[in-house]
Amino acid sequence: MSVILGFVEQESGLPEETSLEMLTLARDLAADDGAVEVAVFGEEGDAVADELGDHGVEAVHHVTDDRLARYAPEAWGESLAKLASELDPDAVVAPGSDRGHEVLSHAAAALDLPMAANCTDVETGDEYEVTRQRWGGSLVEHARLDADTKLLTAAAHEHPIEEAQAAVDPAVDVFSPSLDDSHFRVQVDRLEESDVEGVPLGEARVVVGGGRGVGGPEDYDKLEELADLLGGTVGASRAAVNEGWRPHDDQIGLTGAKISPDIYIACGISGAVQHMVGCKGADTILAINTDPEAAIMQKCEYGIVGDLHEVVPALNEEIREAQ
Ligand SMILES: Cc1cc2nc3c(=O)[nH]c(=O)nc-3n(C[C@H](O)[C@H](O)[C@H](O)COP(=O)(O)OP(=O)(O)OC[C@H]3O[C@@H](n4cnc5c(N)ncnc54)[C@H](O)[C@@H]3O)c2cc1C
Repeated sequence: MSVILGFVEQESGLPEETSLEMLTLARDLAADDGAVEVAVFGEEGDAVADELGDHGVEAVHHVTDDRLARYAPEAWGESLAKLASELDPDAVVAPGSDRGHEVLSHAAAALDLPMAANCTDVETGDEYEVTRQRWGGSLVEHARLDADTKLLTAAAHEHPIEEAQAAVDPAVDVFSPSLDDSHFRVQVDRLEESDVEGVPLGEARVVVGGGRGVGGPEDYDKLEELADLLGGTVGASRAAVNEGWRPHDDQIGLTGAKISPDIYIACGISGAVQHMVGCKGADTILAINTDPEAAIMQKCEYGIVGDLHEVVPALNEEIREAQ
């Protein structure tokens, strides 16, 4: 029976969303005659087994070593490679998250195998024909993945989370790879909570973004108010972050957060391609810009040509009255 090996990220015994998305793809690859097995790291790694059973996972390999509890990209990649060498799977699939990409890249180097990142679609066969996102999704590439074991990551937010038709009770075993100090040259030392309050950008249903057109840090008050009134979160363009008006956590785009809200209200943002790849998952974009020729005006569903310093307070007033 063929095996598809997944890499599952977990926090306090709960699998991350992107890992559950990855399992949707892994089940497709396994088809009817294959099995999905996963590698999980961290102290509470085995606690995820119940939930993973709902997603069709037949075996959970809890990778343990005192030094592996804290994230260490090379050591995790090496461990995944060693597990893959034992199981000889058809494919190793990781989530399209920072860690998913990093760990699978290290595993690919250790196994000396090719890897395709950010796959949206996979046609299986002796070779895999993959469709994958490049440049944050602004380019789509068709590629062939030709190896006995295919390594790929599932593009984030492209594979809806779905439970398996029949839940299974996964077998759980402990996998203790032999690792040496050289695999721990990079390791997370401590985690600091972000001081950003409210709903994280990636999960917000309403996002109000501010760009260079906002003009300064104090003028984000109006945007904060609009976001509060709509139960949303404020984001920013890289220009605003570079000016020091907003923290980097707020940045939307190629080198920032990818958002998928019901509505994105982009204020004083020109619509550069590097910004738009971060907000293309929004159902509706409302742009507020003084320049009717700004690129974002061609990419939004609704556009208001006007000064955001007048339009946003007027919107706030209307919404307050309507509530
Ligand atoms: C490798 C690389 C990665 C990048 N990654 C990112 C990224 O992740 N995210 C990102 O955002 N950018 C990114 N950029 C930068 C990107 O190319 C743009 O430079 C940036 O998005 C521009 O930000 P902006 O729209 O706020 O500023 P500008 O382009 O300066 O636009 C400001 C807009 O505000 C409008 N405006 C001015 N005053 C007002 C007003 N009073 N009311 C209403 N509208 C007004 C103007 O008409 C204009 O359209 C990246 C660039 C590179 C090269």
